[in-house]
Amino acid sequence: MFPIIYSDAFLDHDTGHFHPESPQRLEAIVNALKTVSWSDRLQWQKPTNLAQRNPIPYIKNIHMDNYIKGVQRLAEKGGGFIDGDTIVSPESYNVALLAVNAWLDGVDTVLTTQQPAFVLSRPPGHHAVQKTGMGFCLFSNAAIAAHYALQCDGIQRVAIVDWDVHHGNGTQAIVEDNPNIAYCSLHQFPAYPGTGTATETGKYDNVLNIPMEPGSDLNHYQVAFEQQVIPFLERFHGDFLIVSAGYDANQADPLASINLQPRDYGIFTQQLLTVTSRILFGLEGGYDLSALAESVVATIEVCLSQ
Ligand SMILES: [Zn+2]
Repeated sequence: MFPIIYSDAFLDHDTGHFHPESPQRLEAIVNALKTVSWSDRLQWQKPTNLAQRNPIPYIKNIHMDNYIKGVQRLAEKGGGFIDGDTIVSPESYNVALLAVNAWLDGVDTVLTTQQPAFVLSRPPGHHAVQKTGMGFCLFSNAAIAAHYALQCDGIQRVAIVDWDVHHGNGTQAIVEDNPNIAYCSLHQFPAYPGTGTATETGKYDNVLNIPMEPGSDLNHYQVAFEQQVIPFLERFHGDFLIVSAGYDANQADPLASINLQPRDYGIFTQQLLTVTSRILFGLEGGYDLSALAESVVATIEVCLSQ
């Protein structure tokens, strides 16, 4: 069985009409997963609700208190903008808290089963920095999950691989001074948010950025995985791997210019599984609905074929 942590409540983060980071993204993924021939091998799990576990202490490890309260106040007064494209709707604060719980549950699930799991949540998180959200992201789900994993028995070192087409500036900024967390990102460059050059290597050589030129495809990514990503992960000797799984490097994606195909994510997943089976995948970007759904299917299908 493959665990998926998901709630319909994640549809309630309302970004308005025409926003690419829409609830339809999750609907497309869920519909695809319900109709694959192996759908009976998926175990749908609801995240721990906010009454059972308050995620705020975990978020406070990462984000400044006045930012967290600011998001809450903005939601309570009916919503508004954090930046030009980062929206808080009336439900967004609670949805973002529930998303954090889902990522924490994902860590617990992977540690219990010693097998991969997937968190299908929104809003995404990898652009959010300590003091503010940005780029569709409110709270840094991956960094929060990494710090949580470090508190779990037997986990001393956590690696994060970020294959979203955009550099995870927030995740990197939060973890780059921590010798027990490694961060590796493959992303289009130049592109939003402008960070992520290969010269950013972290305080402990714990950061690996692999900028990809527009037009790059599977061949370029495969070389990067074989020659850089996998050796970096093996050198780091992590006990746990988090994948910031954005799928906007697909050729069909409207927000970027990388030419991956959905099945390519299955190849990357296969590669990561040679390093560890303790992998938590968590959704970041991906804005072409069909390509997004097919890519998540390809990722999970490879995990199930192990
Ligand atoms: Zn992205």
